Amino acid sequence: MILQLTKAYKSIHGLPVVSYVDTDIFTQNYPETGCLEMGCQDICCSGGAIMDSVTFKKLREVDEEDLGVHIDWETYEFDDDPCYPGGKGCYTTFTNNRCMFQNKNGFGCIIHSYCLKKGIDFRELKFFACCIFPCEVNNIGEYKNVLTPGYELRHDEYNFPCNKTGNTTIYENAKNDILYYFGSSLIEELETIKNNILIQVKG
Ligand code: SF4
Ligand code: SF4
Repeated sequence: MILQLTKAYKSIHGLPVVSYVDTDIFTQNYPETGCLEMGCQDICCSGGAIMDSVTFKKLREVDEEDLGVHIDWETYEFDDDPCYPGGKGCYTTFTNNRCMFQNKNGFGCIIHSYCLKKGIDFRELKFFACCIFPCEVNNIGEYKNVLTPGYELRHDEYNFPCNKTGNTTIYENAKNDILYYFGSSLIEELETIKNNILIQVKG
């Protein structure tokens, strides 16, 4: 069920905006610690992810040797997409089922590892799409700017091992990241909706 929020909530980057919520985020199971709990081999990174133009610009300022990956920055062309910071998005390059930012010596994301090493909040340099997962902001049918389960979690054919399993929910797993990007007033409204939904489910 998709519910309209009392107002449109802007992200810290201005875009995206969240105007609706798909209540599946409150009821669909998800592991509390996500990937760590599943021992998964980064299936979700195998198809790459959408880079937002705000984070791409910041990442460009990082020393490539330090980051551990060479990038042909000029080759990426961004398309307009208000569902991402900066209002523009472009897919990462991926080859052999690996995103260009996947750690070459094992699993995990090079950007995330770099942030941990430097003591930087990973949401400063890792793309919005990667940070807000297992949620995403997307247009669903007639509804624009919906906070919803990530695309692959709405389509069972992706067979993500974290899909519809685990002892928490998509919302609880993503809550800190929703807070970071959209602030406490969105969380307050989501908490009220969540409590009402859970009463209905139990009732
Ligand atoms: S598919 Fe799920 S469990 Fe596997 S790495 Fe991605 S988020 Fe983690
Ligand atoms: S940027 Fe990092 S987290 Fe995002 S898809 Fe690529 S490897 Fe995965």
